[in-house]
Amino acid sequence: MPSSFKGNKSSLPSKPCVACGRPMSWRKAWAKNWAEVRYCSDACRKHKPPQKPPA
Ligand SMILES: [Zn+2]
Repeated sequence: MPSSFKGNKSSLPSKPCVACGRPMSWRKAWAKNWAEVRYCSDACRKHKPPQKPPA
């Protein structure tokens, strides 16, 4: 068998969530827009920093 076997799960990309900072592993559901994925979950997606203008 070739030593340079590809298809290892450990080769899957991962990056930290911009909201909670937790590392999120690549998911098949994100295959289309992995580059645009910033949040690990919908909860984090809704967790936006306060940007409301002062009343
Ligand atoms: Zn998160």
